[in-house]
Amino acid sequence: MEKWDSNEGTSAFHVPEWMIQFADQKQEFNKRPTKIGRRSLSRSISQSSTDSYSSAASYTDSSDDETSPRDKQQKNSKGSSDFCVKNIKQAEFGRREIEIAEQEMPALMALRKRAQGEKPLAGAKIVGCTHITAQTAVLMETLGALGAQCRWAACNIYSTLNEVAAALAESGFPVFAWKGESEDDFWWCIDRCVNVEGWQPNMILDDGGDLTHWIYKKYPNMFKKIKGIVEESVTGVHRLYQLSKAGKLCVPAMNVNDSVTKQKFDNLYCCRESILDGLKRTTDMMFGGKQVVVCGYGEVGKGCCAALKAMGSIVYVTEIDPICALQACMDGFRLVKLNEVIRQVDIVITCTGNKNVVTREHLDRMKNSCIVCNMGHSNTEIDVASLRTPELTWERVRSQVDHVIWPDGKRIVLLAEGRLLNLSCSTVPTFVLSITATTQALALIELYNAPEGRYKQDVYLLPKKMDEYVASLHLPTFDAHLTELTDEQAKYLGLNKNGPFKPNYYRY
Ligand code: NAD
Repeated sequence: MEKWDSNEGTSAFHVPEWMIQFADQKQEFNKRPTKIGRRSLSRSISQSSTDSYSSAASYTDSSDDETSPRDKQQKNSKGSSDFCVKNIKQAEFGRREIEIAEQEMPALMALRKRAQGEKPLAGAKIVGCTHITAQTAVLMETLGALGAQCRWAACNIYSTLNEVAAALAESGFPVFAWKGESEDDFWWCIDRCVNVEGWQPNMILDDGGDLTHWIYKKYPNMFKKIKGIVEESVTGVHRLYQLSKAGKLCVPAMNVNDSVTKQKFDNLYCCRESILDGLKRTTDMMFGGKQVVVCGYGEVGKGCCAALKAMGSIVYVTEIDPICALQACMDGFRLVKLNEVIRQVDIVITCTGNKNVVTREHLDRMKNSCIVCNMGHSNTEIDVASLRTPELTWERVRSQVDHVIWPDGKRIVLLAEGRLLNLSCSTVPTFVLSITATTQALALIELYNAPEGRYKQDVYLLPKKMDEYVASLHLPTFDAHLTELTDEQAKYLGLNKNGPFKPNYYRY
């Protein structure tokens, strides 16, 4: 039997031999014909519960059923009522959503398949608080297949896909979540996950830190049995570092938000795809020949520029950092100041993480029909507040699309009121979420199996070897063949043949 622990390096995670081999094999499920079905509009982003974004469209919601799920008596087909979802009868629709997601989550499916009989999470009792979407369902069912018992609540009051929650409840997962929970419902659901007769969690999987916060506040004694926390969001990680700094973190925690693979996929690859998706859905525009200025040439900016260039747009870049500026030049983009091109461009995209990058002065000088949008975290990159003045008329054209009209008739097209375009107006590809979910699963396995003392009461990054493993599990999708180091080459480079292949400071 393979061990999930190794005594080499700092990682408790021994990548089993069969898993390394498997990464080179094409997986059977990839050969299955693609199922045609309804498209999931779900996405997972790391936001705290109070953010009011509504990303997950629920096709089967019956809006006339106003009864709170808390007031309904529901049972699944096996007679269990240990769940609280909008409508258990939607389970079949949810199952189809989960099946579609499974096709784009190859690594979790591989883990499930290869871990048969091995159960690295046997005995794990995981309480989770994440967006409840089809992708999360694939994660939960994988954790179940690896031996864990799970109880789950939603980390956002709007993002639950009701039919997916129903499918999970039908297959025996105690899920407490529905789309449109009140603040009170939100905490009630979390409480129902942790405050259970005869069941105590020993692992936490959190997205935003609310679950961790609740246990700290209400059930601090539970931490005696908890082996670790896995946290996905920027906010949650920030809270954990604060706890650690104050000496109040009483178990090890894994920051999966900053793992290399996840960062690359969230920032570069995801934005490369979703910038076009967001612009198309809102404006039906054609990109060829359009003049675009992208502010910021970090990971997000690089993704946006690459996508637009590939579509035949003429792309200008603004930067403050000479290194990123030089990169933009080397990649064939004209580096300009925003002022130099603001009169001529058709699209302005901000991705700096900064504030007031596009000012009222810039907005005044834009040409008629210029499209303005933001891909950065905060909605202050474009000074939208400065457009709320009496001389300008706002006209809602479509959901997330406003015309702002000047007295002379000039109008600009403002998308998502300056909030993140892709998270407001497009979907995040399941493959991106597959990277995150696999990272979460491996972080749970790592913390759960780590011998006493390996991890202290602190916040850790995922060991690089596991990051590499997450990537390797996704390679078979592309029938990619990884080259193996020869003994001689490994010795020459001073590396272990099985990784890690790069030092921690390496920038990918
Ligand atoms: P980054 O730090 O790699 O890049 C930002 C770049 O903007 C830097 O190179 C910086 O020098 C430059 N910059 C700062 N101020 C500027 C200014 N006034 N003018 C021109 N350039 C300026 O960060 P990133 O990973 O590219 O992320 C950028 C933003 O996007 C962040 O706010 C991040 O939270 C957000 N983000 C969005 C998504 C999404 O899905 N839309 C995904 C990940 C990150």
